[in-house]
Amino acid sequence: VNAGGPSSEAVSAFEKPSIGKMRVALVAMPWFWAHMPSIQLAIVKDVLNKEHIDSDVFEFYADFANLFGADLYGKIANVGPFLGERLFSQFYFDQLRASHGEPLAHLFFDAPPVEAHIMRFATPLVDHFLDQCVLETNWSDYDVVCLSITAHQLGASIAFSRRLREHFPNIPIVIGGAGCAGEMGSANLELCKEFDIAVHGEAEVVVPRLFKALRNSEMLSQVDGISWRKADGQICTTKSVPVHSFKKPRGALNFDAYFKRVAKLRSLNELPIWIPFESSRGCWYGEKSQCTFCGLNEIIKFRERDNTSLIDELEAYEKAYGRTHFFSVDLIMPLTFFQDFLPKVASTRKTWKIFYEVKSNLRKTQVDLLASSGVRWIQPGIESLNDHVLKLMRKGVSAAHNIQTLRYSAERGIAVSWNLISNFPMEKPNDYMQMAEFFPRLFHLDPPSGIAPFEVHRFSPIHEDPKGHGVRLCGPHHAYEAVFPVSRNLLERLVYRFEYDLIEPQDPELLKAHKYVKTAIKDWKRAHSRQAKFELVLQSDGVGTLIDTRASDEAVEYEISAEHVAFLKFLDELRPVVRIAESFEEVDRDAFELLGYASGIAELLQSWSNAGIVIIVSGFAVSLPVDRGLIVANRDSLDSMQEAIGA
Ligand code: SF4
Repeated sequence: VNAGGPSSEAVSAFEKPSIGKMRVALVAMPWFWAHMPSIQLAIVKDVLNKEHIDSDVFEFYADFANLFGADLYGKIANVGPFLGERLFSQFYFDQLRASHGEPLAHLFFDAPPVEAHIMRFATPLVDHFLDQCVLETNWSDYDVVCLSITAHQLGASIAFSRRLREHFPNIPIVIGGAGCAGEMGSANLELCKEFDIAVHGEAEVVVPRLFKALRNSEMLSQVDGISWRKADGQICTTKSVPVHSFKKPRGALNFDAYFKRVAKLRSLNELPIWIPFESSRGCWYGEKSQCTFCGLNEIIKFRERDNTSLIDELEAYEKAYGRTHFFSVDLIMPLTFFQDFLPKVASTRKTWKIFYEVKSNLRKTQVDLLASSGVRWIQPGIESLNDHVLKLMRKGVSAAHNIQTLRYSAERGIAVSWNLISNFPMEKPNDYMQMAEFFPRLFHLDPPSGIAPFEVHRFSPIHEDPKGHGVRLCGPHHAYEAVFPVSRNLLERLVYRFEYDLIEPQDPELLKAHKYVKTAIKDWKRAHSRQAKFELVLQSDGVGTLIDTRASDEAVEYEISAEHVAFLKFLDELRPVVRIAESFEEVDRDAFELLGYASGIAELLQSWSNAGIVIIVSGFAVSLPVDRGLIVANRDSLDSMQEAIGA
């Protein structure tokens, strides 16, 4: 039974005849991560299921990745997302298609020939792919089609909706996801006349009420947290909804459709598939002090699921899909995990590989626990190795914490994804010169992916109060105009990323310093690819050898005495420099005396700092060699982890 007619009539029809038993199609388009089922659709399916509504999932992005080549798909999704959006939006806005992508040069990639080449070869593929999506099923079997719109899925969603509506004019289209938050929801309806309803809030809160209204022909004006198009074309928005509380437990989600689809797609099926899972929403840190660039709205409120059966849930996925890579979609790992979930997983001795976003001020015991419970890849939001810059972005950690987390992770076989964010007003050239000076000492640790100026995202503190953050907003990011040729006013409400100027002009020396760091990162990456090492090898008599290939493949080796080893081990935890001698004396009086008391310790620390054995930063001494005895064999490299997911 279909509810209504096309576009404007579709929704008015909702308010009249009752649909009765419903069947819903849940669709996700490119450029969602191809190596992962959509947890967003799985959650909506679960919510609908509880309402006794049947649904089928269509993860079309997987087909497109297969058609396009998983490798190139991953690169476009991550490096050239605007180009990816444009490839699809040209099938909604005919004028874009007519221009053959000519005005794109320099817009999306640094290399215009690459861009033009991708446009040329990919355009017919996109056309064919959109047809295949429409041919995939008899869409008239569905009462509603729902599209999940998160990052960079809007272009493909409007193109698909247009083609679907051309062939099946009577099926209403509902959109939801992060791309519909706040005023972006109603702006999406304004952008695309085929979209009928936009869900602004989280699915658990809005979807039951929305579908009850659709089923029982109640007025949509009674449903909070949505925008919809009335019969006269007017777009209405109801009041916002509170965030989901997670009070009711939720079991394992259903990813059957994805695995069935991927089984037929050779290029994807052979790669590791990561199964997404969720243990919390929001950010316990940001709830108290949001990082200045962080674009989270009210969903920043931290909410933890009842995770008592999370291990059962992961086991159920392993059993059902035979996969052991699990990708947490949490914004930050709940702190309670160090007391309950992680020790429990460690005790199961599973060979799982788990990804998590974490805070970067991890203690040694916490990293140990992550490693022993199968966390093999983390994203700790390091963002800078300079205290002043970290303070400007309100990150709530120090450079010492960040370096320590990199070292602990290297030792314990955990790959770390991170990058450097720059351009904050009040930065000093010296912030960057000092940071870059550290780099050669860190060549044995995972390097940053790069350095880039901060982006202004909707909902971020910088976006909410640009002047207070030394910034002047200059409208939507310029590339959107080439993707969505609509009025500036609509773009302002539609997009997530904005252009900006700094109110105070930047010191030219600062720009030079940013460039200097960029070059220094290249050196770090080169050292990383030749597997530079800095290791402590312990002998049975307590003496140690430091083996150093950070500067070149030719190893520099030097012996250190047992008391030096004792001091180095003591520095395994962050120690405030001002109290180092005193606290070392409390821990190992003999070694303290052998090293020449407080003055000897101060001299040693200085000479180790000069030799790159420790870094003195943030008032702490951070030891740098990794203990070879602890290094995890068969560690997955950062590159292999990231490649596996097309990141
Ligand atoms: S950037 Fe990360 S740590 Fe900072 S507030 Fe946002 S989610 Fe939390």
